[in-house]
Amino acid sequence: MAEQILLIEDEEKLARMVELELRYEGYEVEKSFDGRDGLEKALSGRYDLILLDIMLPLLSGMEVLRRLRRESQVPVIMLTARDTVVDKVSGLDSGADDYITKPFAIEELLARIRVALRKQSAPAARPANTLSAGHLVMDTDRHAVTVKGAPVELTRREFDLLRYLLENKEKVISRESLLDNVWGFDYVGETNAVDVYIRFLRAKLEEPFGEKHIHTVRGVGYVIRED
Ligand code: CA
Repeated sequence: MAEQILLIEDEEKLARMVELELRYEGYEVEKSFDGRDGLEKALSGRYDLILLDIMLPLLSGMEVLRRLRRESQVPVIMLTARDTVVDKVSGLDSGADDYITKPFAIEELLARIRVALRKQSAPAARPANTLSAGHLVMDTDRHAVTVKGAPVELTRREFDLLRYLLENKEKVISRESLLDNVWGFDYVGETNAVDVYIRFLRAKLEEPFGEKHIHTVRGVGYVIRED
């Protein structure tokens, strides 16, 4: 799937030129022309990388970055006309991954995008929100689960159930509590939904790998243990 890039840049001609080049390289691009709209889009979590101008209407690029970093570690490359040390230092302090000074050659921008995206996909460089038990690892940012490094596809409900059990690792959780917390208090479906979904999870996470993660505590509920 094509990587999604958000370009927050108020100079429309420049934005259009960059967009065309990025699309030509196979990226999906969305543009935003002011800081407030840009921040809102950036916070949606839909993007693999953000290109962020510093001088923007409504909200400055630095402020967009500062607010974005409270919630997201998405790679950000700052675009700036002001090649000053102060800007670079404060930008990197606020969590920018890289800088490029306008005017830039498109090849240089493309090279930096490739580097930032590669860093993002390297597990060691990414401070991901991970939950784990033994060889089972969940990356809650990327909505991804692996067992022994192999990706496992889960449905939304399976993912939510597994997440709740991992967040409460080593605690035995009753079926009622799982129904309340994963399905919601207003759930009116089958009461054996939990058992059914635990079976789905076991079929995906345990059987193919010969590992046991989810333990049944008879008469009580389920628990994920670190073993
Ligand atoms: Ca600008």
